[in-house]
Amino acid sequence: MMRILRGDVVAADLCRAVAADVAALGLERGVTPGLAVVLVGNDPASEVYVRRKMAKCQEVGIHSIEHRLDADTSEETVLALVRGLNRDPNVHGILVQLPLPKQIRPAKVLNAIDPRKDVDGFHPVNVGRLSTGSGGLVPCTPLGCMMLLDQVVDDFRGLKAVVIGKSNIVGKPVALLLLERECTVTVTHILTRNLPAIVATADIVVVAAGSPGLVRGSWVKEGAVVIDVGINRITDASGKTRIVGDVAADEMEHAGVLTPVPGGVGPMTIACLLSNTVKAARQLTDAPDPDEAEAF
Ligand code: NAD
Repeated sequence: MMRILRGDVVAADLCRAVAADVAALGLERGVTPGLAVVLVGNDPASEVYVRRKMAKCQEVGIHSIEHRLDADTSEETVLALVRGLNRDPNVHGILVQLPLPKQIRPAKVLNAIDPRKDVDGFHPVNVGRLSTGSGGLVPCTPLGCMMLLDQVVDDFRGLKAVVIGKSNIVGKPVALLLLERECTVTVTHILTRNLPAIVATADIVVVAAGSPGLVRGSWVKEGAVVIDVGINRITDASGKTRIVGDVAADEMEHAGVLTPVPGGVGPMTIACLLSNTVKAARQLTDAPDPDEAEAF
């Protein structure tokens, strides 16, 4: 029988652990982890995400500071803000909410973040660390996927994993993390031929395509673990809007495990952001001088 793996439950446990770690940091070193969130413009989805992230910070005792900038802000102004946050000793994590308005190049801004404060894990230094398996800060959604997999997979070695989607935010980093655990990993994308046949070989399927109901029941091997990263807003025939994943969830009875949408990977992403912020605060206070910081 297929088991639903509730990310919201696992995320709540992680948040409790993070809250305990925040309290310990305060007692041991008098440090309150600080997260700076930069939001440029007024994209409604971004506003919702930022509000959610900041509310969760407050719940676990992380000090979060929002920096809101107008949609027509110049790239140089955003870069100056990021540089200031890099120097601020009370800020341990910097998150620039994507997407950015057209006049601002995301790579330019993300590359300006001090890698030690890069709690989203998108800086090339952290990407390099991930690809060589040498520490650094790991992107939140892929980290959340691995924590969910850890709940149900004892030994990853030699398992066949298929990742659908090759974005820098989800697909590629999750593939690297699975490879690090010694899975045999296949990364697929929109131009992949015979996707159903490839998915049928998988013990673990991670789908991050942004395509509602893409993965059909007939594609998935009996007993496979399926992690659904997709978040798609759809309107049904009666005009009601709801959020669905990239998996045809009602066709998965024969799968071993499935993460639901909503309530699966989404809450894990936010919990991992909090956990990365505390990790950054610990590492920065352990070794404030970049030359001494082992992990970076
Ligand atoms: P993206 O658009 O950057 O990348 C999508 C990838 O999927 C591409 O590599 C594309 O080639 C592939 N793809 C698209 N349609 C496909 C198809 N029909 N067959 C095979 N491959 C296909 O998207 P992203 O940023 O990686 O996000 C993917 C999904 O995950 C979106 O629904 C997004 O909302 C969701 N997401 C969820 C969280 C979370 O916290 N749960 C976080 C990030 C992204």
